[in-house]
Amino acid sequence: MTDATPRKRLLIRTWGCQMNVYDSARMADVLAPLGYAPTEAVEEADMVILNTCHIREKATEKVFSDLGRLREAKRERGGEMVIAVAGCVAQAEGAEITARAPWVDIVLGPQSYHRLPEMVARASRAAGAVIETDFPAEDKFDHLPETTAPQGVTAFLTVQEGCDKFCSFCVVPYTRGSEYSRPAAAIVTEAERLVSLGARELTLLGQNVNAWHGEGPDGRAWTLGRLVRRLAEIPGLARIRYTTSHPRDMDDDLIAAHGDTPALMPFLHLPVQSGSDRILKAMNRGHTADDYRRLVDRLRAARPDLALSTDIIAGHPGESEADHAATLALIRDIGFAQAFSFKYSARPGTPAATMAGQVEEAVKDARLAEIQALLRDQQTAFNRSRAGMVADVLVTGPGRHPGQMAGRTPWLNPVHFDGPESLAGQVVPVKIVAGNPNSLSGVLAAPATPSARERPAA
Ligand code: SF4
Repeated sequence: MTDATPRKRLLIRTWGCQMNVYDSARMADVLAPLGYAPTEAVEEADMVILNTCHIREKATEKVFSDLGRLREAKRERGGEMVIAVAGCVAQAEGAEITARAPWVDIVLGPQSYHRLPEMVARASRAAGAVIETDFPAEDKFDHLPETTAPQGVTAFLTVQEGCDKFCSFCVVPYTRGSEYSRPAAAIVTEAERLVSLGARELTLLGQNVNAWHGEGPDGRAWTLGRLVRRLAEIPGLARIRYTTSHPRDMDDDLIAAHGDTPALMPFLHLPVQSGSDRILKAMNRGHTADDYRRLVDRLRAARPDLALSTDIIAGHPGESEADHAATLALIRDIGFAQAFSFKYSARPGTPAATMAGQVEEAVKDARLAEIQALLRDQQTAFNRSRAGMVADVLVTGPGRHPGQMAGRTPWLNPVHFDGPESLAGQVVPVKIVAGNPNSLSGVLAAPATPSARERPAA
């Protein structure tokens, strides 16, 4: 952008997973050279992007009600507002969006956002909406500008996209396409850049992040474990996480990396979805409940302080009371530190949507309540078990109250403690004094001399 480029305002609303958060940041990067600077105020926005998620029930209806409000805002600005719908709802419902909301200018799927500048130009000339929901042959990551905006102490980095697993209930293989791994060299370069911009913790993202594989700079085939070890060598990078993983892609090397790479944090989101083998089969998950138990045993053998989080679906078609009981049993056996649990809801176009044995809403509600009560107890117990220990806390910034700072433990618990703002970006020892249901509180322990890894990059 030159000084003569007019300043324009861009509002991006993001729903859904961390991959959408990452995509929104990259869309802002792509549009920055056109003069778009971020805003939170819809009245001053020259462009609004709704970056949507298709996972939850009624996602499409929520997008349309937001679009209804944006129609008014666009009218008040005399039509001077570009409205774009991005993400998985755009991918799945492109034609319906333009039919029901003709004031939308751009509809783009998750694989097309590198084309936004060209689409904005086309939208200014086109009579109708510009739609890009194909899976373009070129790699969007090759066409994205480098991130230049400070990312904060924690940053996301997409390493993998798409999914070939075709779980019965899930739209991702249809909206995000087949599995694709970014080249190792490009990931390392982006990671170094994020660290130079202030990131101390990187979360590697992918719909099936542990399916990541590629040729390493040494010419050998790398899998995620090797990539994690390489990233751990970046000076100033204190912490690495990855999400979302699939039990089937948890290979020996990645399990070993949990034991031999201190920067890889002892917290893993490993969706299981159900504890019943019958339902896991109907879900097309490709593993049994005992496969999952054994996998967790191996992970805990490699990293004894590993905490786990998971996803559970209550009431998948065909689920009986016995299947539900098997899910509760698996939850009890594993003991999760955190979890996301949902009632099954049919996503059009997925195999489960037309399966026999759809479970009544009231039954799903009751089962979900039971699952959530158990998971809540486990989360509370896990948080309470932190009390009394001195945890390494990555300080992310000021807390809610004056003089208070906020940070994260290795197990991803939010922590609040009193301390100076100068601690932001450092890993400091905090004595945990209370484990609350959703967060921890602590006091700064005797300041230790930070090790080289724990010092922010120069
Ligand atoms: S592994 Fe299953 S749930 Fe996860 S994205 Fe792929 S199809 Fe969806």
